[in-house]
Amino acid sequence: MSHKSQPSQTAYPPPQRIFFSEHEQRLPWLSILMEAYLITDQGISEGIKREEKQGKLLACGRGCASCCKSHESIPVYPLELMGMTWYATEILYGPLRQQLEQQLQHLEGLNSCPFLINDVCSIHPVRPMACRNFNVFNRSCEAGEDAYYTRRKDVLTPIKKYNDEAFNVMLPFYGVKNKAERRKMIKSGEMHRLARVMRDLNWQSLAEKMRAFDRMKSK
Ligand code: SF4
Ligand code: SF4
Repeated sequence: MSHKSQPSQTAYPPPQRIFFSEHEQRLPWLSILMEAYLITDQGISEGIKREEKQGKLLACGRGCASCCKSHESIPVYPLELMGMTWYATEILYGPLRQQLEQQLQHLEGLNSCPFLINDVCSIHPVRPMACRNFNVFNRSCEAGEDAYYTRRKDVLTPIKKYNDEAFNVMLPFYGVKNKAERRKMIKSGEMHRLARVMRDLNWQSLAEKMRAFDRMKSK
């Protein structure tokens, strides 16, 4: 999600683990999240390669963001929420940071994801699994189009085993250490009870966190 209006000729980039070494030493949960995102991205990469062998062409690319406007109920899990909050507060800088902080403060009437700035995802390295998993082939989505409903055959079906493994990696963070218990929660879908709808969350409090962080840094 959120990446040109024409099908891209460049392949999906090879999945890479992003390291935030200093932060990860202080925030062990961040390593779990980044591992889970690597597994998710590996699954997407494999899924896209399979479809490309069938002659499909990935349409998603930077600056293509209709999906970030038309999808109103993107799920986000608590660990993901921590990652998004951390990234916006501690990593984002410059004009993008200012724009995001202002947007989060004034969300009334906004018809897009709170993190979409100038048609680019401001938190792209830590965007949720749901965003990572939504990929469309053949042509870019029209304004307001949710390709899942208008042309399901053009939407990537994520490879389940990768998403399951990403959840498996995250579950110990929620206190589910037992492997069999984790498997059960994933198989039954119980895991998804943890999810919240991104647009329903109180993002003004994140804007305040960002300002508090700036004040602390300027002392
Ligand atoms: S899902 Fe649709 S709108 Fe979103 S990046 Fe892909 S082609 Fe563009
Ligand atoms: S977090 Fe928001 S802006 Fe980023 S990819 Fe997801 S929907 Fe788009």
